[in-house]
Amino acid sequence: MRSGFPIGHLTTFRIGGPAAVYVEPESLDDLRAVSAAAAVGVEVTVLGKGSNVLVSDAGVDGIVLRLGRGFRWSARDGNVLGCGAAMPLPALSGIAASHSLTGLEFGIAIPGSVGGAVRMNAGAHGSSISEVLDHVEVWSLPESRVIALRADDIGFSYRRSQLPARSFVVNARFALSPAEREDIRQRMSEAREWRRATQPLGEPNCGSVFKNPPNDHAARLVEECGLKGLSVGGAMVSPKHANFIVTSPGATAADVLGVIGVVVTRVREMTGVTLEREVQLVGRF
Ligand SMILES: Cc1cc2nc3c(=O)[nH]c(=O)nc-3n(C[C@H](O)[C@H](O)[C@H](O)COP(=O)(O)OP(=O)(O)OC[C@H]3O[C@@H](n4cnc5c(N)ncnc54)[C@H](O)[C@@H]3O)c2cc1C
Repeated sequence: MRSGFPIGHLTTFRIGGPAAVYVEPESLDDLRAVSAAAAVGVEVTVLGKGSNVLVSDAGVDGIVLRLGRGFRWSARDGNVLGCGAAMPLPALSGIAASHSLTGLEFGIAIPGSVGGAVRMNAGAHGSSISEVLDHVEVWSLPESRVIALRADDIGFSYRRSQLPARSFVVNARFALSPAEREDIRQRMSEAREWRRATQPLGEPNCGSVFKNPPNDHAARLVEECGLKGLSVGGAMVSPKHANFIVTSPGATAADVLGVIGVVVTRVREMTGVTLEREVQLVGRF
């Protein structure tokens, strides 16, 4: 446990202030202690790999929790692959491939944890987590216990889930199918290559900033409005991919939010479409 712990470096944007308290629980016993704090009114924020969050410059009150190594495991049972929620999604995709199991190829270059991917219903190349998820176990802070949920009961939609309030994923099970390992690996290398070609992976970013509106692409709208390269302080709409914001050293969360604000306003004025943020704001904004 650390107090006043800077957490910006735990996010792919690499910006943001300190957590009042930072913990990496390793076991259900540790989670019981977090529930006890929550029971007396302490706010709890869950962080995964920090690849879809913008942390406030002012930091985060209460406890910021990131599941520790005890939640980073995987085990195969027939065509089902189980894992802890701290497992990085690309690592799990690689393990599925090594077992000649198909279904998780889309995750090979999504730099999140399994818990964050379930929460966000992460997806790419026409597939998403909800299509291969069998069930999850969540930790309920108010009940201080694990609850099992079937994927059908999580209310998934595009980049959205409806996990029970004040709960977070601790384990997940994916129902996959047998396939030729070489075919799986081929699809993964195509996914990696497509990203290298289209995304600004060398600069800090959070992936897609906005959700795609129905039947359109946020990147297309932002580009059509001439906003590539627009900057506020150290944050800029990527010249390589219009739905990415990239930052330079010294950038603040306020800079990123500034760019988001200008983009939303201009796109609405010029196209009538109101873009919805995909990136999650964490802390005091
Ligand atoms: C270069 C790049 C490319 C990307 N490409 C894609 C892509 O193709 N498709 C896509 O969908 N996303 C993409 N993303 C976004 C991001 O990787 C995904 O949304 C990912 O699933 C987030 O997981 P995370 O562990 O990083 O979550 P975080 O960013 O840490 O958290 C995101 C949200 O999930 C919650 N959360 C975290 N862990 C848990 C848990 N255990 N239980 C419940 N809630 C939790 C957090 O509270 C927060 O609300 C990309 C990001 C980057 C930087």
